[in-house]
Amino acid sequence: MKTTIIAYPRIGAHRELKRAEEAYFKGTLTQNDLLKTASELRKTNLKTFTEHRLSLIPVGDFSFYDGMLDTACMLGIVPERYRKLGLSELDTYFAMAHGWQNEAGDVTALAMKKWFNTNYHYIVPEFDDGTAISLHADRLLAEIEEAKQAGIENERIKVSVTGPLTFLRLTHFTGNETADTVSTAVASACADLISRLPEGCWVEFDEPWLVRDLTEDDIRLFRKLYTQILDAKSGRRILLQTYFGDIRDCYKEATALPFDGIGLDFVEGRETTRLVRTYGFPDDKVLFAGIVNGKNIWKCNYDKALAVLPKAAKLVLTTSCSLLHVPYTTANETRLPADVLKHFAFAEQKLGELQDLAEIADERAKGAELSDHAVAALDENRALFAGTRVTGNEQVRKAVAGLTPDSFVRKPAFAEREKIQHKEFQLPLLPTTTIGSFPQTREVRSNRLKFRRGEITREQYDAFNREKIRECVELQEKLGIDVLVHGEFERNDMVEYFGDHLDGFLFTENGWVQSYGTRCVKPPIIWGDVSRREPITVETSVYAQSLTKKPMKGMLTGPVTILNWSFPREDIPKKESTLQIALAIREEVLDLEKHGIRVIQIDEAALREKLPLRKSDWHSDYLDWAIPAFRLVHSGVKPETQIHTHMCYSEFGDIIRDIDDMDADVITFEASRSNLEILGDLARAGFRTEVGPGVYDIHSPRVPSEEEIESAIRKMLRYIPKEKLWVNPDCGLKTRGETETVPSLTHMVEAAKAVRKTLE
Ligand code: GLN
Ligand code: ZN
Repeated sequence: MKTTIIAYPRIGAHRELKRAEEAYFKGTLTQNDLLKTASELRKTNLKTFTEHRLSLIPVGDFSFYDGMLDTACMLGIVPERYRKLGLSELDTYFAMAHGWQNEAGDVTALAMKKWFNTNYHYIVPEFDDGTAISLHADRLLAEIEEAKQAGIENERIKVSVTGPLTFLRLTHFTGNETADTVSTAVASACADLISRLPEGCWVEFDEPWLVRDLTEDDIRLFRKLYTQILDAKSGRRILLQTYFGDIRDCYKEATALPFDGIGLDFVEGRETTRLVRTYGFPDDKVLFAGIVNGKNIWKCNYDKALAVLPKAAKLVLTTSCSLLHVPYTTANETRLPADVLKHFAFAEQKLGELQDLAEIADERAKGAELSDHAVAALDENRALFAGTRVTGNEQVRKAVAGLTPDSFVRKPAFAEREKIQHKEFQLPLLPTTTIGSFPQTREVRSNRLKFRRGEITREQYDAFNREKIRECVELQEKLGIDVLVHGEFERNDMVEYFGDHLDGFLFTENGWVQSYGTRCVKPPIIWGDVSRREPITVETSVYAQSLTKKPMKGMLTGPVTILNWSFPREDIPKKESTLQIALAIREEVLDLEKHGIRVIQIDEAALREKLPLRKSDWHSDYLDWAIPAFRLVHSGVKPETQIHTHMCYSEFGDIIRDIDDMDADVITFEASRSNLEILGDLARAGFRTEVGPGVYDIHSPRVPSEEEIESAIRKMLRYIPKEKLWVNPDCGLKTRGETETVPSLTHMVEAAKAVRKTLE
């Protein structure tokens, strides 16, 4: 039985590509050396694939920044403002990816969005009217040549490209052209590409769009594109690869088209098995069965995986999605004990799993006795799943089991609390605040690094942070901000910081996962039952509050975000883990309140992003436990304690009632980049939570003028009652410098004051 994977990580096991690109951007590495690093990384991957005897080798899954952007460039979809810079092909590409600023010109980057239900961000291609679509496949063809040089025969090459449907659906059309009007040209470019690929190879078109709720238009466009493409396949084998779910809305259409193979997701695709059983799978096509989870870091349960293996005449075993979403290898983890590591499968270990599974499945299919190797692999795997991996924390389990509907309800109801709090805090209209972090300057980061390396003592480390907090409070008082923050100087990352203080979390040394372009994250692993080991933020918040008479916000990360930005457990439901985390954070909330903190912000930056792809799953699979988990965190506080929350994306127009149902007193969110689009939705929904839609974009060093902010506030007031509107930036200021932060906040406070005057 054959094996393959959809795609492999490309940033390098030690983030070599990130380092090389950053050096290249700074001008300390030549383009040639960057190309060399990239080529070496690809060759290392090829070697890993051959060592693990993958039957079909992915080629074209490499990217200098992002696969969607690669496809845009391959199709010649490069907006004029980037072409005009007159840069080399690679620099034009980087200009689109992250902007360009020097004597050649000054352009901002293309937009970036979350890739389906993952933590990865793709670059949103932009299609301007008049763009001529044509094929520019030199880079891809060179990578194929490289694979051939490495001894991979045509028949083993699987070239992957973003599928045209997914590409067109995610592209932003700026003029009159639409996905429909350009579809013929895109399909011909795909056909052109196919004709230039080695004869006998597989050509994989990735179409995750197909696992969403499809419209008739989607299905029509899908058929149109592929009818044209499949007409031109001459001698190459075309694979329709889907992932992140099942293709229930187009299974019949997909299997009826003359694809040579179809890739289906048996892990996240809840209906995949039913679809194959009910409608059958054509004997003349190869079924690429995604049975090894491409998103988790846990070892695959062989018995379970083999049990879902479908009946099809021709099978290839593969991963459920690209391995881009997991770290490279457990081999680089030196600190985690072997007893722990044996439960993990990062990208490289998943290749080994495919090899084992193929061997077992093969021998079984032949009715042969299992080889010694297969028996050993199966036994070892069964041992991993026999019994329990961790001893549960009885106290935590009891606490979760003991929750009643009342545990999730804060009293009194919102309207009454709002009155109590207005009296309690006596804030002016349009109160000003910030989201939490202040610039993480070089000194702040170096203080942390020195502490981690043992170069300074705990006392020295804390003393530095206290001094920063003092400066930060002083600055905010001087600026005239109404509700203050301590600045979060002690935090590296808003999830890791809490994970570090909670029992049940594990951290890797090298478990990097690409988040976008050159940015990687190292998600914590939820290993066991979660509980609060000790107070986490109390001392810091109490100290910060002691420096001012104004309310100081206690600053916490919410349970849903902690879960979403970690690798979750699979031996208990996500709901259960989230409630455990919620109870731990709840203890912290009550502790803060007990110590005199009157405003507490519980960030749910990542709540929106794990919303299931299909609408029918939104509530049952997610919101029905995620929203209550948040309520559990704060339901125990006094009426006069004000609970804030923050979300990074404002794309919650369609779950607005659920957001209101979090029952926070105030919510701040990103709005300025999306042109305040959310305001209309809030007004229509009669949103009751007080709101602070960000008045300026903190993702850019640009300083907004006072007038600009004033006009944003006035626009907001057309939709939001003045008693409910807060004034704040989009998000935390940690990535900003001090030079732009001070003037930006000055303008913000001045703008709020100016508008306030006209309201009183
Ligand atoms: N409180 C956090 C900060 O200001 C929130 C960050 C976020 O939303 N990503 O940094
Ligand atoms: Zn944010």
